[in-house]
Amino acid sequence: ALIVVTGANGFIAQHCVAALLREGYRVVGTVRGQNKVAAVKKTHKGHPGLEVVVIEDITNAQSYLDVIGPLSPAAVLHLAAPFHYQATDFEREMMIPAVQGSTAILEAAAKIKSIRRVVQTNSFASIYDASAGLSPDKTYSAQDWSPLTYEDGVKADNAPAAYRASKAAAEKAAWKFMESRVLGFDLVSLCPAMVFGPFLPEAKPTTIAGVNTSNQLVWAAVSAGRDSPVPPTRGPVWVDVRDVADAHVKALQVVEAGGCRFLLASGVYCNQELCDVSRRALPKYGDRIPVGEPGKRESHTHFGVSTAEAGQVLGVRWRSLEESLKDVVPQLFEVERGE
Ligand code: NDP
Repeated sequence: ALIVVTGANGFIAQHCVAALLREGYRVVGTVRGQNKVAAVKKTHKGHPGLEVVVIEDITNAQSYLDVIGPLSPAAVLHLAAPFHYQATDFEREMMIPAVQGSTAILEAAAKIKSIRRVVQTNSFASIYDASAGLSPDKTYSAQDWSPLTYEDGVKADNAPAAYRASKAAAEKAAWKFMESRVLGFDLVSLCPAMVFGPFLPEAKPTTIAGVNTSNQLVWAAVSAGRDSPVPPTRGPVWVDVRDVADAHVKALQVVEAGGCRFLLASGVYCNQELCDVSRRALPKYGDRIPVGEPGKRESHTHFGVSTAEAGQVLGVRWRSLEESLKDVVPQLFEVERGE
């Protein structure tokens, strides 16, 4: 079967493409400029099952119909959406691409008769209610919804808040679209926590500034310097990118997943734990990884998470923090050294 992966050059999408190709699917990846096509092909070593096409504007359903429609794909993984904290015009840079991007792919899927399922990469941000505070007695699951709206994103105080609203509003718009008509496909929503883990070898960034937003959190924690304070934890729930990719493949395969929403998380963490685990597993970088207060944990100070549905329905297993950090932290130091 042929699977469309939008934003194929992105951090998570590169692992999804690799996982699909490993499982024998054919893949058509979309990128927003011709200048990104070659890099995606190189990431997958020119795999014959991969084609890369340009969709300049992810909010334009017609462009999907023109470019993807004739290929008769069976399903779509929609990952293209802004995930950065650099936006200043939140509506133009975050809300429109996220929300209209989410509905444009559904509008196109409604007209491409071969498509039977769309899997959207939403976020823990569309589950989590930041206004409820730390809530140590609360356990978030796929049943919970962020109260954030489109307007909250437009008027947000800061870029992380605008990003969270973009994810919540995009997912709400997607389910509303699905309810409003009879369609030949179903929707699966995947809501990952902060995604950590390695880059595919051919897709390692060339500069630290080019590292994706979630792995920047790892870098900030483990590179601060041995005697520096451990930086504060931002977003205390995480998941490994390879498990997220596995969940995307399972979301295509498991019939009962249709119409469902899944929280993808290995568990809660704090930056002291990132430092403790990295110092133990990677003593080579001991002069850079803060010592802080070894063994101190923040998990009792805030909410927990339950990922029962992802385990039961999708059969996803979660890598440990050590497995994830052992693979990504050395890569990040290589990137810093320009290797
Ligand atoms: P990346 O930044 O690595 O990838 C984002 C992808 O989306 C890139 O292909 C990017 O293209 C594309 N994109 C971004 N903005 C636009 C736009 N305005 N128009 C067209 N394409 C755009 O991020 P991740 O791989 O981390 O994220 C992928 C998805 O997963 C996103 O939807 C994100 O919200 C979601 N997610 C990520 C989490 C994480 O911790 N990483 C956690 C939860 C959800 P280009 O390279 O050209 O900018």
